Amino acid sequence: MDRSMLYRRFHTLLIANRGEIAARVIRTARAMGLRTVAVYSEADRDAMHVALADEAVLLGPARARDSYLNVERLIEAARKTGAEAVHPGYGFLSENAEFARACLDAGLVFVGPTAGMMTAMGSKSGSKALMEKAGVPLVPGYHGEAQDEATLAKAADKIGFPILVKASAGGGGRGMRIVRSAAELGSAIVSAKREAKAAFGDDTMLIEKYVDNPRHIEVQIIGDSHGNLVSLFERECTLQRRHQKVIEEAPSPTLNAAQRETVCAAARKAAGAVNYVGAGTIEFVSDGKDVFFIEMNTRLQVEHPVTELITGIDLVEWQLRVAFGEALPLKQDEIRLNGHAVEARVYAENPTKNFMPSVGKISTWRLPAETGGLRIDAGYRERDSVSPYYDAMLAKMIAWAPTRDVAIERLNRGLQESDVRGIVTNIPFLSALMTHPKVRTNAIDTGFIERELAVLASAPPAPGELELCAAVAAIVNDERQAAQGEANSPWQTFGWMPVGRRQRSFAFRVGHGPEQKITMNYGSGPSTLVIGERELAFTVAPKDGGFDLTLDGVKSQVAAVIDGHELYLRTRNGRFDLHWVDPFGGESEEHVGEDKIAAPLPGTVVAVLAEEGAKLEKGAPILTLEVMKMEQTLRAPYAGVLKSIKCKVGDIVQEGVELAVVEPSGE
Ligand code: ADP
Repeated sequence: MDRSMLYRRFHTLLIANRGEIAARVIRTARAMGLRTVAVYSEADRDAMHVALADEAVLLGPARARDSYLNVERLIEAARKTGAEAVHPGYGFLSENAEFARACLDAGLVFVGPTAGMMTAMGSKSGSKALMEKAGVPLVPGYHGEAQDEATLAKAADKIGFPILVKASAGGGGRGMRIVRSAAELGSAIVSAKREAKAAFGDDTMLIEKYVDNPRHIEVQIIGDSHGNLVSLFERECTLQRRHQKVIEEAPSPTLNAAQRETVCAAARKAAGAVNYVGAGTIEFVSDGKDVFFIEMNTRLQVEHPVTELITGIDLVEWQLRVAFGEALPLKQDEIRLNGHAVEARVYAENPTKNFMPSVGKISTWRLPAETGGLRIDAGYRERDSVSPYYDAMLAKMIAWAPTRDVAIERLNRGLQESDVRGIVTNIPFLSALMTHPKVRTNAIDTGFIERELAVLASAPPAPGELELCAAVAAIVNDERQAAQGEANSPWQTFGWMPVGRRQRSFAFRVGHGPEQKITMNYGSGPSTLVIGERELAFTVAPKDGGFDLTLDGVKSQVAAVIDGHELYLRTRNGRFDLHWVDPFGGESEEHVGEDKIAAPLPGTVVAVLAEEGAKLEKGAPILTLEVMKMEQTLRAPYAGVLKSIKCKVGDIVQEGVELAVVEPSGE
């Protein structure tokens, strides 16, 4: 076919995807002067990629097959908006030959290879047959057409156990089983076929030797429609969980220069075998010495940024230029490798609960600035919702540095300085991975995460002295900031008190753990915090997202989020979730203020619940205060008569002010 039909200059690009990759593609497309069209499902009306694009078209209901996988609706969206080209991103329809063909039939440029190339490389069996012919090294295995049990069993025997049974149409690690002995083979094939049939509608199996201590190494390639094809070095993606990548880096720390050249040459040969056009990845499995082809992905990968950071090439820009029909901007010998890059995939999931996806609203989204070698490709913002319909990847954090060690340090720091609340994320897990000594020394294989799970997904540390002090400081800091709006509030000057020295007690708890008590002394003279026998001088200086806490002359940074009585703190010791035990609501064994019904914190009276003269049981509600956006009910400290109420609804009251008087009944 005439290539100018396939690839030509265009001005409006539709991005047939969502989340971070849609946002990523839009960023480059706009920088190249293109008009961008986003598509979205009903669940994504307020999503970030929709806000970023020049135009956006609703595809349909939340379910992917009704929206992002609906070819007809996508083509219709392009027609409606005058889009001339489609970028498929990754996942969804990115490797669907029918979609590429439908785009072409509708007169749209498909930013990617032709349908024919996708079909040739799309099946693992087919591509292996092609690679075999091209002389690319393969894992010993069987990828023939005959699928009867006897043939597969014979092939497995010949290869020698352990082997891997794999769905030819597979992806995302599905339809794959490790088989260690002939006895296990039959049932593994049955279950892998069942899974493959359900997931891909095709249960063709292939068998491969299971490579010992496997490492995943892949090469980024890109070809243009003029016959140029280059490789952009390799990535190592050995840190996987259930055959899904978690951390990726470039270049591979496992290969030396000669091995690097060998694997890149093999990749060029592989892509050259189909005269490949567009960006693609040739994946290999390695035993640490040799590399063997496993499959090709005919699209941009999630982990493409690590390649961008070590080559200085914008892969989306190159994809678009290839789609314009241009020649690649650089020749192979002009492409240089510079430094090292590492990427971590940030997911809404709970590693301590078997990586269960976490859905809900992102109440806090604070990620570090993209400076000092750090890059963040995000698909979400504060107040966005994570829905249960799609992949739960929130963002990718990528760090570059001249060396691997420093890149890992930078990435880890970036992770440690991230505070995401409202949903649970894998950030602490990623951080544990980046600091694991075996990751630092590259003593890993694809089974590493599974083996080390107990260490990597362990429960957070218990709060210590610093965290208890930080919790008090967070409350005080928050109250002071809340009071800043009120003119002439005494809270504007911390420690202001009408008379002398004052004391305020706090109790905190983690989960259902014991209460930990701490007392603040303030007023005239320096403020101190008392935990047991220890008394520490302290000051608090507010900062964006938290404060600097100085304890006995040592300053440390604390990030804090307060949501009612739930406190989230990040100190130098890690992340902590503390519950501030309600000093009023019967939650604590101790009653504050003994016989005086006084405002324990500055607040607003929102309800008066008893009348003067009423007989009250111990614990009967008297009035409700709103303190820090939380309602607190003050109760009778003992049985008695309500002698007087000294406030009314709407009053703003200061701490320590008496609000009601109860006369004990003397029983
Ligand atoms: P999918 O398309 O489902 O991702 P792949 O064929 O790419 O499946 O394999 C996924 C992962 O499984 C690879 O990254 C690699 O870690 C591991 N793997 C694949 N083939 C082998 C093999 N023959 N031996 C050992 N590990 C393998």
